[in-house]
Amino acid sequence: MKNTLKLSFLIFMLLMEMKTMGQDMFVGLAKKSITPSSPIWLTGYASRTTPATGIVHDLWAKAIYLESSPKEKAIIISTDLLGLSREVHQGIVQQLEEKYGLSQKQIIINSSHTHSGPMIWPALSGIADYHLEEQKSVSNYTLGLIDKLVDLAEESIAKKEKMKLSMGHGQADFAINRRQLAASKLGQDLPGPVDHDVPVIQVSDLKGQIKAVLVAYACHNTTVQGDNYLVNGDYAGFAQIEIEKKYPGALAMFILGCAGDQNPEPRGTIALAEKHGKKLAETVQNVLQKPLKPLGNSLRYDTQLVSLDFQKVNISVYQKELVGDDIFKQRRAKLMLEAINKGWNIQQYQYPIQALRIGKEFTLVALAGEVVVDYSLRIKKEFAQHDIFVAAYSHEVMCYIPSKRVLQEGGYEAESSMIYYGWPGPFTDTVEEKIMGGVYQLMKNIGL
Ligand SMILES: [Zn+2]
Repeated sequence: MKNTLKLSFLIFMLLMEMKTMGQDMFVGLAKKSITPSSPIWLTGYASRTTPATGIVHDLWAKAIYLESSPKEKAIIISTDLLGLSREVHQGIVQQLEEKYGLSQKQIIINSSHTHSGPMIWPALSGIADYHLEEQKSVSNYTLGLIDKLVDLAEESIAKKEKMKLSMGHGQADFAINRRQLAASKLGQDLPGPVDHDVPVIQVSDLKGQIKAVLVAYACHNTTVQGDNYLVNGDYAGFAQIEIEKKYPGALAMFILGCAGDQNPEPRGTIALAEKHGKKLAETVQNVLQKPLKPLGNSLRYDTQLVSLDFQKVNISVYQKELVGDDIFKQRRAKLMLEAINKGWNIQQYQYPIQALRIGKEFTLVALAGEVVVDYSLRIKKEFAQHDIFVAAYSHEVMCYIPSKRVLQEGGYEAESSMIYYGWPGPFTDTVEEKIMGGVYQLMKNIGL
């Protein structure tokens, strides 16, 4: 009996050892400064009137390359930028495909949506009134960015070594629903959903040394506002600096969730951005002090395009806007009338969605654009048996993605933001069901 127990114990220990060994995978880490070297227009606020005047701290692009087998590889890239344009995103993917055989479904590029980062051509170029020379610096930065992000990916692949991934969750409460706040100031009542989840992934070497920390949160990086002309990564930039201080030698990466209708509160100063950043770093530290859930060493991924429809707008609306007194409507009308004259399809948008499953334990859904928080809450609820984080601001940031509820309520995220982004008008109310249909298909394809 004693021997049987001893044998069972040995088998148990052996199985545990095999399980632990099975959690290794090749991980490559890299970071690169993407701080603009010359004065450049910052983007995100239409109220700015000149290029940036200085720098608070560097902006970064960071990469975590994962390889669980010669056939299973993926890369997550974060950028301290408002968002990439389709041109930039596709430029990077094309090069990674040519050089490393990585296809779109293996590449997630997320933007922190800092409103104190450089303009990326041609996204939101309608909000700035810049001269030719200033426009050239935006174009040069954009072209250089593609090369930098490809180099970054290359470096992370070259540096791959065996590491282990584990994770936990915390909460941070400085995100509020800004639509609810705006409505309450007008004496109206709107629901105020938020998602305060803070997933934290720890990457450690085989000696147990922390080499990278990935943190995600759903809140606009808009603590500082349009009166700020200093380059900085807002709360996410400060959070990464703080995490790298707490874990010397580790790379801190930030991924933005469904923050379309989420703002930090309070807001308005650099000091507040730093305060929120430190709060997020503190949450990370609390998570990492508790036991973490190991992530298995398999990777599943898939991507697809969902065709979203814009509501039909009569051409006379743009003709009137063109001669109206709103400069932003004039610029949008000019774009739309040119597109109509050239016979371009401006009724649909091919919207990219993606999912990456690490082990059986965690899934990162990556949606493009400024997705409102309803999507995160709905996906987590409908796949409640799984540990999921829904990243938005991935691939490209081309406009807001409202839910059916937000579309019905109207307002900035549903309607007027489309003017600044240069799209024909609001989406039809099929947008949410179409995206959810795509998400269900992706989840099925990655084994959920
Ligand atoms: Zn935004």
